[in-house]
Amino acid sequence: MKFVYDFTEGNKDLKDLLGGKGANLAEMTNLGLPVPPGFTITTEACRTYLDSGEEPAALRDEVSAHLDALEAKAGKKLGQADDPLLVSVRSGAKFSMPGMMDTVLNIGLSDRSVRGLAKQSGDERFAWDSYRRLIQMFGKTVLGVDGHLFEEALEAAKRAKKVQVDTDLEAADLKKLVAGFKKIVRAEAGRDFPQDPREQMDLAIHAVFDSWNTERAKLYRRQERIPHDLGTAVNVCSMVFGNLGPDSGTGVAFTRDPASGHQGVYGDYLQNAQGEDVVAGIRNTVSLAELERIDKKSYDRLMEIMATLENHYRDLCDIEFTIERGQLWMLQTRVGKRTAGAAFRIATQLVDQGLIDEAEALQRVTGAQLAQLMFPRFDEEAKTERIGRGIAASPGAAVGKAVFDSYTAVKWSRSGEQVILVRRETNPDDLDGMIAAEGILTSRGGKTSHAAVVARGMGKTCVCGAEELEVDTKRRRMTLPDGRVVEEGDVLSIDGSSGEVYLGAVPVVPSPVVEYFEGRMHAGADDADELVEAVHRMMAFADRKRRLRVRANADNAEDALRARRFGAQGIGLCRTEHMFLGDRRGLVERLILADTDAEREESLKELLPLQRQDFVELFEAMDGLPVTIRLLDPPLHEFLPDITELSVRVALAEARKDPHENELRLLQAVHRLHEQNPMLGLRGVRLGLVVPGLFTMQVRAIAEAAAERRDAKGDPRAEIMIPLVGTVQELEIVREEAGQVIAEVREHTGVELKLSLGTMIELPRAALTAGQIAEAAEFFSFGTNDLTQTVWGFSRDDVEASFFTAYLEKGIFGVSPFETIDRDGVGKLVRDAVTAGRETRPDLKLGVCGEHGGDPESVHFFHEVGLDYVSCSPFRIPVARLEAGRAASSSTGSDHR
Ligand code: ADP
Ligand code: MG
Ligand code: MG
Repeated sequence: MKFVYDFTEGNKDLKDLLGGKGANLAEMTNLGLPVPPGFTITTEACRTYLDSGEEPAALRDEVSAHLDALEAKAGKKLGQADDPLLVSVRSGAKFSMPGMMDTVLNIGLSDRSVRGLAKQSGDERFAWDSYRRLIQMFGKTVLGVDGHLFEEALEAAKRAKKVQVDTDLEAADLKKLVAGFKKIVRAEAGRDFPQDPREQMDLAIHAVFDSWNTERAKLYRRQERIPHDLGTAVNVCSMVFGNLGPDSGTGVAFTRDPASGHQGVYGDYLQNAQGEDVVAGIRNTVSLAELERIDKKSYDRLMEIMATLENHYRDLCDIEFTIERGQLWMLQTRVGKRTAGAAFRIATQLVDQGLIDEAEALQRVTGAQLAQLMFPRFDEEAKTERIGRGIAASPGAAVGKAVFDSYTAVKWSRSGEQVILVRRETNPDDLDGMIAAEGILTSRGGKTSHAAVVARGMGKTCVCGAEELEVDTKRRRMTLPDGRVVEEGDVLSIDGSSGEVYLGAVPVVPSPVVEYFEGRMHAGADDADELVEAVHRMMAFADRKRRLRVRANADNAEDALRARRFGAQGIGLCRTEHMFLGDRRGLVERLILADTDAEREESLKELLPLQRQDFVELFEAMDGLPVTIRLLDPPLHEFLPDITELSVRVALAEARKDPHENELRLLQAVHRLHEQNPMLGLRGVRLGLVVPGLFTMQVRAIAEAAAERRDAKGDPRAEIMIPLVGTVQELEIVREEAGQVIAEVREHTGVELKLSLGTMIELPRAALTAGQIAEAAEFFSFGTNDLTQTVWGFSRDDVEASFFTAYLEKGIFGVSPFETIDRDGVGKLVRDAVTAGRETRPDLKLGVCGEHGGDPESVHFFHEVGLDYVSCSPFRIPVARLEAGRAASSSTGSDHR
């Protein structure tokens, strides 16, 4: 095995082995761009070192061989006393982890070679500046000395000299500073700063390896879901110097604006500076445009290189460069991060430039980015005071009064106040408060903290881990870094998409992307912004590519119409239980209490026309598109009064010697229907089989509504769906009864009706016997919520808020199986049921109506297993359309990163 690659040997596709930085340095080298020569030590070497505590035996010799070659090319040796070769030792993992790991510059300088460097460069100040930087960086990252000590010494030197910036220090000052730095090293690290250049290099390499496992690196990886076992590569790169005077400098640039996507010149440049000076803000940088004035030749060359990189990577790149006495050097590039809005704009711009095709464009955006663009947002124009920033844990913009406990959150929200629940961290006891609040703010915890997980599950705005805010729940207050105090009742605004926290109420504006989907803004219109235009085009690409159809979960005409505007191709789940609530509750109560057939039929007869009207409206809204109606699913007790409340009422009435006959009967019914575990009790098809007339009433309402719409020249396409079937026998009975009713309606109305009947697959047994069930079902709709509950034995309402965060932290799963389908377990049942069902009935229609239908990762899975459609809540439809398009045009399956 080979552990070291010269920059000329690698390429951009070797990120696993060479890390992102190393792979791209090699790519630039091969493109003929001016990259200082160097070599990369593989992640494999790092993994061996981290696993065994020792570097692989062959590494030392390989490094020596590559160093020899580097020295031969440069015509000087590492740390050579009269003319030293200097190198940087740079970390670089597969995925960029900004600021998480270490880099040391100017390796090879020592008490002797610093003088050689001074003579060779003719610039004593430069040589001592480079040396003090080496001791500072080496001391901090390799020897573990507290970096503040160096910074303080530097400040002291500037104070003594009465100057503001480091460039005003002269050679003599820097020489003194070096002596001071060396003393700090000796005192703090218990050893001298090493004078042997090879020892410097080897120690730095080990330090980079070790930096993979610092606490902050681990935390970052957990939050970004980067695997912990990748390790980092190490790049050894010949130094070039931006600190050689005013004709030198260093800068960073983007090939286009990472916020808007606009093409142009975006970047910062700093004269007479090295490495991180640009981003560290030690002096004011100038814009790249300014560089044109300072050094036109380098500027032109930089523009040329940026164009080369964009055309080569066919994407926005960000770069680091250094100019050494008028000579431009490239030190890093990568495909750059960007905002969600820029991702859409850049993808369409690149299509227009002919650099990528539509399929590739779809891989450049994600459903999560689209979802982000659909949240209402804070008005950017508004004057706001930012008081902190945390982790953007669950997107959205929330405004409300600060409350510091769950009880107050519930109490205040009941009286009509909007509240933000502020906690140090949340736990299951906070659940009520979280539900009541507009948003949740915590000062501790990351993306897998309780607050984050539960808020995402509820679709509630959440910012967590805003560490500079000191939350004191006992005294119901929060202290800001500047000492000011936010009391209970003060208004806060939190932005779950950026992690920002503001004092006061920031005005919220609707997302232009939602305005577009709602049809209130048109992509072609003059005032439509570029973002809307780009989203419009990307959606068109996705719709052209996708195989999966997208339907909506919608229970009424209003939702159905919105879903249609958002692009729904039908309703995949209409829940009829909502039609049994409100002022119809009384009728349902009478149905449940009925002692005789006559009483029961009476109440069913009254429900029938109401149900029929519901369906007429729904069919009208979805005219020409399929509407899947699920017959009644929840346990009946959900339609009855709460058992405790009712018991109290009855007891009080009895005490007053005024017993109420009806309430007594009600209480008896409630007791009779009470179940230990309603989720697994009398519900779904079981209800249809034991409550005579219930399902047939619903089927009749559907059939009559369809007939009515046909009479009105409409095109109703009803699909009747039976929930919670576990065995084909259940379905057969319902099917036969339904068939009779439909025949009756047909005869009665004289209208030819095409109604299909199918079932949900939401119990493991249904999935396991799908081949049999398909004999009685014209379609399957996977109810992946209940299927996940029953496959895992999780009661969702109970487990998500209690132990899921512990499971996530222990890595038992990376994401809740209720959020993203569990491919190996639940997914296997779905896959097998698809195969078995189609074997029995080749034209079986297959869909999914669980919440997974709108989850990006899950949509890819449903595409792979060959479902016909996914169904999700109206707001998620655009995301599902986009992801279905991405799934159909991705060659690599489902790499979403
Ligand atoms: P990071 O991954 O944190 O950006 P880098 O390894 O890119 O760390 O290095 C930190 C800084 O030092 C960057 O500004 C980089 O451009 C600069 N740098 C790294 N190697 C060299 C070199 N050989 N010559 C000059 N500057 C360098
Ligand atoms: Mg860098
Ligand atoms: Mg269900």
